[in-house]
Amino acid sequence: MHKIDHIAIAVKSLALSIPLFEKMLGNSCYKIEEVASENVKTAFFQTGESKVELLEGMDPEGVITKFIEKKGEGLHHIAFGVQDLVVKIDELKKEGFEFISETPKKGADNKLIVFLHPKCTNGVLVELCQDIK
Ligand code: ZN
Repeated sequence: MHKIDHIAIAVKSLALSIPLFEKMLGNSCYKIEEVASENVKTAFFQTGESKVELLEGMDPEGVITKFIEKKGEGLHHIAFGVQDLVVKIDELKKEGFEFISETPKKGADNKLIVFLHPKCTNGVLVELCQDIK
């Protein structure tokens, strides 16, 4: 893992949360992107080397909507940037880590992503992501 790529926060409303985070970070949102495969709308802020990603569910049955129903708004996942996702997945599998799905899929912000299963990472949802070149 070469850096924390982003920290993702589940919110009920991007319309309300974008101005709030712009005020707090002193930084404008640089991208709003819908990820159809996940049924989420995302908003990104650059903070130094890393980013903050806000996630709003677009589907009442979707993972973000359900997450907020269960736990309320808040920290959803931490994403580590890796150079080679396939190599890293292999390495971690050998160490006994489990993935929600071992097949990388296209995430927001031009990334390939996978999620580790939170049961093997002390309850924290961890994403690994690699830039698509
Ligand atoms: Zn993410």
